[in-house]
Amino acid sequence: MMQGKTAIVLFSDDFRINDNPALYNACQNYQNIIPMYIYQEDYLGRKLGTASKVFLHNVLNSFDKLLLTQFNIRLIIQKGDSIEVLKETLKKTRFDAIYFNESYTLNQIENEDKIKNYFNHLDVRCFKAKLLFHPSEIKPSSKTGSTSTINGVNAANHKFYKVFTPFAKQCLKNTHLIEEIYEKPQKINSVHNIKGVEVLQLNLIPKKQGLWHEKLITHWTFSFDEIENNFINFLENKLKFYKENRNIPSNKGTANISAYLRFGILSPKICFNAVMLAIANQCLNETENNQFVFELLWREFAYHVMFFNQNIANQELRPEYKNFQWNDSQDFLSKFLSKWQKGQTGFDIVDAGMNELWHTGVMHNRIRMVVASFLTKDLLINWRHGEQWFWDTLVDADPAVNPFSWQWVFGSGFDAAPYFRIFNPTSQKQKFDNNNLYCKKWLNSNWKADMIVNHDIQRKIALERYKNL
Ligand code: FAD
Repeated sequence: MMQGKTAIVLFSDDFRINDNPALYNACQNYQNIIPMYIYQEDYLGRKLGTASKVFLHNVLNSFDKLLLTQFNIRLIIQKGDSIEVLKETLKKTRFDAIYFNESYTLNQIENEDKIKNYFNHLDVRCFKAKLLFHPSEIKPSSKTGSTSTINGVNAANHKFYKVFTPFAKQCLKNTHLIEEIYEKPQKINSVHNIKGVEVLQLNLIPKKQGLWHEKLITHWTFSFDEIENNFINFLENKLKFYKENRNIPSNKGTANISAYLRFGILSPKICFNAVMLAIANQCLNETENNQFVFELLWREFAYHVMFFNQNIANQELRPEYKNFQWNDSQDFLSKFLSKWQKGQTGFDIVDAGMNELWHTGVMHNRIRMVVASFLTKDLLINWRHGEQWFWDTLVDADPAVNPFSWQWVFGSGFDAAPYFRIFNPTSQKQKFDNNNLYCKKWLNSNWKADMIVNHDIQRKIALERYKNL
């Protein structure tokens, strides 16, 4: 412990005190801590979506309250370019160190490098906290891996996986790379003269949308205890049925943790360890082959792919899909894209999904696949429009998982759904919502089944266009 010395801990999408290595190590090494959050709307390399902002607003309030109740300290919230903010801070108070948990989008990597370079006279350290593995830690053998070609980070000659199963196997072989859990600090001293802004001054809450955001937020808890308890409850009561239940949207058979992982309220490491323990305790007998573990590893895979293909939200991962013939006239888009967005396609399961998204900021995974297939393969609208709509309306909108999943559904992604798998919304409904519980919940009583396209005809057109590639 450095007597009398101060460390700034920079938080960003790691808003937790349990298993937070930057916070833990700063408290170990320094006597005085300044917990700081610097907001920039495009910190992920693109403007944050509306629902994400609303969620972030609540996360920040809740995290600030947690720091206050647990340690009697406040989160110092700032706005703007990190280097400028830190330079200004240095004018007002002396600090000796900057600790943070590393990030993986190109914009964040560059920003974090700038901090390391500019403040190289200080003790600047970063840690792994947002994933189980650093995206470059899981390496394919030289024979099987692919080399990144599209705007990759440190990509030259770096091999990465394009197929999930060998990636997941390699992760499970390398669990020794997953670090120990970091305890929450016992006590934090925070003495300084830095004044931040109020969360409200970040303008994360939309001015025009009426009561939309207030209703959205009623679907979520921001109590850290409740979030952890809900996950424990899932592990105790639902994990053993996860494989069967996860595809039935009315079953509530999934963990509902994606937004909490996205903002770092839950630690992926704590989740992973807790699942492994639950599998052992409940004798689930499928440690190497557990569906829920695989889903956590899909998240890792999306980051692995994004890390080496930073243009994932803009560019097809498989270039041969670049020339797909989209219906992209302004007329077509203004008519059909907005019908899809508003849940007015006349296909019940699609419209119910789009309503669920609008009201709650999430959508069940099965339904995400159905609506994404409908947009790209029935309406033949470019996947980027769907990705952008999800980006704006999902509270779990993730810079890696969202574009990765859209490309997966369209077929241009790695290890993607084959192009000829075109979901028939009617049979998907029969298979996964046979009792109509999901559709009934999310469709208005005045909803009409006037289908805006004929699925069989659109399917044939889509297949023809795929063939032309
Ligand atoms: P559970 O089934 O309980 O799974 C636990 C965790 O595993 C999830 O929270 C998530 O972190 C991870 N996970 C589960 N399924 C996937 C998957 N298919 N790919 C990657 N990770 C997964 N997920 C996001 O977190 N953010 C997004 O922006 C996002 N966009 C998507 C877009 C499309 C078109 C599709 C088809 C899927 C998208 N997903 C996204 C993946 C998935 O739908 C959600 O992670 C899941 O529905 C979240 O619910 P849950 O927490 O109950 O998941």
